[in-house]
Amino acid sequence: MLDLLRKALPLLLLTACDRGDGTARPRVAFGGASSVDSSTPTPTEPFVEDKQTRREREELVRAIETRERISAKVAAALREVPRHAFVPQDQWHRAYEDTPLSIGYGQTISQPTVVAMMTEALDLQGNEVVLEVGTGSGYQAAVLANLVRRVETIEIIEPLAKNASNALRRLGIQNVHVHVGDGYAGLPSLAPFDRIILTAAPPEVPRALLDQLRKGGKIVLPVGPRFGVQDLLVIEKGPDGRLEQRNLGAVRFVPMVRHDE
Ligand code: SAH
Repeated sequence: MLDLLRKALPLLLLTACDRGDGTARPRVAFGGASSVDSSTPTPTEPFVEDKQTRREREELVRAIETRERISAKVAAALREVPRHAFVPQDQWHRAYEDTPLSIGYGQTISQPTVVAMMTEALDLQGNEVVLEVGTGSGYQAAVLANLVRRVETIEIIEPLAKNASNALRRLGIQNVHVHVGDGYAGLPSLAPFDRIILTAAPPEVPRALLDQLRKGGKIVLPVGPRFGVQDLLVIEKGPDGRLEQRNLGAVRFVPMVRHDE
């Protein structure tokens, strides 16, 4: 069994690493999610990018395109979003490596290849409203913003939600709404969603999120043990409400935590 897992691993795709010490304890507004008020972030000026980072990003996207089957529109969305805008400045020099990076609070921005694969797996047509659980840096949400009508994203660690909201605003991205709250509950007041994506791994598929998926919709999520190897699943809800599941392979995500942990 372990051998099998080890064989599967090189294919994939470390997206996030350990939470580290206890600093990642969430501070959450309970009793439902609240929208982030990003009225006092720093810095606030629009994000301006130079030719060098554009070149580095182009190389990264080309490398992903040669390895993975991704559509032209997903590749275009990856080209559009400056990943370095979503990582702390001391990580900028690594922003266009195909690797997860630390964003503080024991959390990570996902590996670009994983973002590409999950975005592709969502099978987006352009008019969807998407729920993302695990805003983190906001990078995945920014990529999605280029491909759909609206993204509602929920993050349990409030300072991360604030940073993400600020980065999105500096880039002029207006169709992403960041919420602070517990993703296990989803956002019932805004449901149903056409697509749902989880970027933290629950031990099993959260029932509330399946309920908030529209008929004909898809949910893409890692499911499995904490800090172990998880399965990246695509679950489709048929017009009759029946669920069909595909397994895209082994991945490793940070765990989806509960608000009382
Ligand atoms: N999509 C992110 C990757 C974030 S890593 C990006 O592009 O950068 C996963 C994130 O899920 C972490 O920020 C973590 O705090 C968050 N998370 C973990 N459990 C959660 C929960 N129950 N509800 C909401 N967010 C959660």
